[in-house]
Amino acid sequence: MRRVAFFDIDGTLMTGGPAKDAFRTAMIDTFGTVGDIEGVSFGGKTDPQIARELLSGIGYEVDLIEERFPLLWHYYAERLEHQLIRCPMQVLPGVSELLNTLGGIDDIGVGLLTGNIARGAELKLGSAGLTEHFALGSYGSDHEEREQLSRIALERARDMWNPSLQPEHTVVIGDTPRDVLCGLKVGARTLAVATGSFTVSQLAEAGADQVVVNLTATDKIVSYLLA
Ligand SMILES: [Mg+2]
Repeated sequence: MRRVAFFDIDGTLMTGGPAKDAFRTAMIDTFGTVGDIEGVSFGGKTDPQIARELLSGIGYEVDLIEERFPLLWHYYAERLEHQLIRCPMQVLPGVSELLNTLGGIDDIGVGLLTGNIARGAELKLGSAGLTEHFALGSYGSDHEEREQLSRIALERARDMWNPSLQPEHTVVIGDTPRDVLCGLKVGARTLAVATGSFTVSQLAEAGADQVVVNLTATDKIVSYLLA
């Protein structure tokens, strides 16, 4: 495997769906509160980071947060699985074609780099039939800081495909400045896509190597991934 592409999920591959609702209910059942959920931006953060921010923002003790995290993620996954049935996520334009094309190119490995906990990622992709495209992943459940997820993703890609894979042989694809920063942190190339809540110029300002309005330009994107 000569090149590897790491995709973010929300705002990059898919949009919509019941995750925020499932998270809100799980927070209330676990901690009795959602904190200032409307005042905190979710974009590009890991699930544990969002939960911790909301809880510490209203003075929850660190020990109590840690102690109840397993229960929170249990409830969240349960709700998410249930709600995805009647509120599926929408796959963003160009994504299916791009993934199908990449699946036919032996030189490119395809993985996930997402703030979702692993089970959340699995449920979201499964609901849209996209699971088979991703051979490995680095998840919010692996590390709370997104910047560490690129290092973990690279390690896993080396283990699975190519021990001599270098950061510059990988591309981090995401829809937020945090995706861009996490790619830059490990020395990967970065492709930002403006299908989330950030504009082309905001993503360019964050330092992305390439910015596209969506993932429909399959040939152009594949050329960039192979470069
Ligand atoms: Mg995203």
